Amino acid sequence: MNNIVVIGSCNIDLTVLSDKRPVAGETVLGNGLNIAPGGKGANQAVAAAKLGANVTMVGCIGNDAYGQMVLENLHRWNINTDYLVTLDDVNTGTAHITLAEGDNSIIVLLGANARVDESIVDGAWDAISKADLVMVQNEIPLKTIGYITKKCAAAGVKVLLNPAPAADLEAEWLTQATYITPNEHELAALYPVNNTDDIIKANAGKIIVTLGSEGVAFGKDGDIHKVPSFKVQPVDTTGAGDTFNGGFATAIVNGKSIEEAIRYGNAAAALSILKLGAQEGMPTAEEVSAFLA
Ligand code: ATP
Repeated sequence: MNNIVVIGSCNIDLTVLSDKRPVAGETVLGNGLNIAPGGKGANQAVAAAKLGANVTMVGCIGNDAYGQMVLENLHRWNINTDYLVTLDDVNTGTAHITLAEGDNSIIVLLGANARVDESIVDGAWDAISKADLVMVQNEIPLKTIGYITKKCAAAGVKVLLNPAPAADLEAEWLTQATYITPNEHELAALYPVNNTDDIIKANAGKIIVTLGSEGVAFGKDGDIHKVPSFKVQPVDTTGAGDTFNGGFATAIVNGKSIEEAIRYGNAAAALSILKLGAQEGMPTAEEVSAFLA
């Protein structure tokens, strides 16, 4: 049991620290460079693996030094990379982040992540068909998401769709997914209606909305229930959503109820924001157990 297959993005995040953000045509001297593995797919895979799930990563990397970094990092957390395909004619995905004047500006190059298509899904079907839960995010071509939800629904494989970053996905895909975990902004992109409360109520047991420091909302008994977040002093909230998803998914494959899984995801996310860095801050199963004890 507890087999999770993540089909998603693997990036290397390149963060330049600078006092000043250069304007067009200007050159400034920066203060430092931080290179770290990222991408929502890999982040969620690492979150679940650190929490004890058996994780397989499905996706694409380039045949370059960043691709090697992605592989080494996934292996560090015992994640199966048998279905992570190395492509010769494209670079590994990179996020180019400038951290200056207290704010981020980011250019993402999808690189190999843009090549996660139907053939990649078919090539990994042996693992996907045996998964207790498949996790997917919006950092691969959107039509691949539709292919995954359709194929998994037909085979009776559960899919957790984390629709981030925000995009308008086809209604049929949302019906086929087992769990959908947007934040409020992403929920509005999925359902462009005045009042999303009715959507949450009508999708009890499926739609789970993360509300940052407010916790999580979901439908239950014809109403909206909230599971509060844990009160912590955040140091770095990067990756809170990814850690929540990894925690929620791990608890679900371990047989927990939706409400218990949300609480577990909230605890994992709260611990993750106490440390700098998306993946480095993610807690282990032991740390979450001690926190919840
Ligand atoms: P990000 O894109 O920054 O990873 P997100 O927008 O996808 O985040 P959020 O709703 O901000 O997701 O956060 C996900 C979960 O993380 C929340 O449901 C909550 O459990 C936890 N969390 C986030 N911020 C805080 C906070 N300040 N205090 C406690 N828990 C938090």
